[in-house]
Amino acid sequence: MICIPVTGRDVEKMAQEMAVAAEQADVVELRMDYAPGADLRRLLKDRPRPVIVTYRAKRQGGMFEGPEEDRLRLVQKAVDLGAEYVDIELDAAARIRRNPKTRLIVSHHDFERTPSDLGRLHADIVAAGADIVKIATMATDIRDNLAIFDLLRRSKKETIALCMGEPGTISRIIGKKFGGYLTFASIRAGRESAPGQITARDLRTLYRYEKIGWGTELYGVIANPVAHSMSPAIQNAAFEAVGRNAVYLPFKVDGDPVAFVNAFKAIDIKGYSVTLPHKEALVAAMDEVDDLVKRVGALNTIFNREGRLIGANTDVSAALDALTAALLTEKERRSEEPPLKGRVALLLGAGGAARAVGFGLLARGVRVFIANRTHERAEALAREIGCEAVALSDLASVAADILINTTSVGMHPNVGATPFPAALLRPGMVVFDAVYNPPETRLLREARAADCRTLSGLAWFVNQAAAQFELWTERPAPRNVMEKALRERLGK
Ligand code: NAP
Repeated sequence: MICIPVTGRDVEKMAQEMAVAAEQADVVELRMDYAPGADLRRLLKDRPRPVIVTYRAKRQGGMFEGPEEDRLRLVQKAVDLGAEYVDIELDAAARIRRNPKTRLIVSHHDFERTPSDLGRLHADIVAAGADIVKIATMATDIRDNLAIFDLLRRSKKETIALCMGEPGTISRIIGKKFGGYLTFASIRAGRESAPGQITARDLRTLYRYEKIGWGTELYGVIANPVAHSMSPAIQNAAFEAVGRNAVYLPFKVDGDPVAFVNAFKAIDIKGYSVTLPHKEALVAAMDEVDDLVKRVGALNTIFNREGRLIGANTDVSAALDALTAALLTEKERRSEEPPLKGRVALLLGAGGAARAVGFGLLARGVRVFIANRTHERAEALAREIGCEAVALSDLASVAADILINTTSVGMHPNVGATPFPAALLRPGMVVFDAVYNPPETRLLREARAADCRTLSGLAWFVNQAAAQFELWTERPAPRNVMEKALRERLGK
């Protein structure tokens, strides 16, 4: 079940928000501590959904500041009025008289951390007479979620358990897989009643919450930051399109990614996408890697074959396939010659994307020059993969017929920036931008104006995601669905 808390400051606002929340929620939580004087009887009379009534005390992260006696009187009134659920803190539960119509959610919140011994806390809440146990703890590390999943799995009593904070967001999405009674979601972005909540709309449409259950396979992207990743949108759309019982999650890993992957073996993740800044570090955590990963020294995909984690790199072929498919003429495509052989490419950037593309270009017989803001990095990468470095002040000296931007210059929100002077763009030049947000960057606009052939990073992104999907599922990826989902997400 999805529960949306409403936090209006008076009875009118509460009633309005309850009506809106009811469109997305199975249960509405009336956070009466935001409006303790509001007429609860009136709100209950018109309720469109079952409700949880909560007068959260300040000491447990709520807004209620008055005397405890007053608060308990209000909670008792909610029970006496027959609200479906009433939330009461563990340390006050004994003071509430029961009513058979009302189920008591006995709760405990820890806004500092996730204690290791949740079992004892859970037992104390059960012993206090809870109909439903609620435990919400702050995640300081994404691995804290595992304690919550373990608790849910072992619990015989109906239990709501979740981690707060951004690293805890996944517990709000997949707690149900481990037996969680309900999850909390916000009515809209910006109206979260606790840190890490996502919107009910995202829960339903992006993560397909209704379909999550014991048998749901888990996938996700390992990144930091992860909040703006497009991967959940496109991979979840792909799973939905092929009817697979799977959900793809955002894993914000700001600590050691190897420790994360090893810990999450406990919940049998079936596959990962890996992006900045973890592509190199995770190679060490694999049971096996493909040849490309060995040569490039970076992976962007992990798949799980009967518990063994295998690292792969779909970045290289994704970029080169996009370049080949979009930019060669029909005649060039049909020719026996390797299509890119003998061309000259200028690569802007010396990070992970440059390494993947540079490697792929060289393997296809392209002569490659690398230019980068930090020239020493360009030199180091050029030495490593076997090509030439060129100073940014000397770009005009390279007669490139392919220009590839692998820096983040021009990416949202800095859409006015470009990594290459327009004056150096020549007609017929192929210009490929790794940036896909926005799909048309200033570099690509200027390149089109200069009669260059252009290619957005979108094709690269969809290619690498589709190849990941195929490694995980061993079936063709619904590429059109994935591209559509990406464009929709970018449009928002
Ligand atoms: P990375 O390893 O962090 O490298 C970033 C590169 O951008 C470095 O060369 C860095 O130069 C340069 N850079 C950053 N800010 C700059 C600025 N203000 N001015 C000049 N240069 C700047 O990142 P990455 O993994 O290579 O990714 C780079 C870009 O490619 C990102 O925008 C990413 O989204 C995109 N990408 C797209 C796809 C796709 O599927 N379309 C795939 C992979 C990557 P310094 O060395 O001087 O710091």
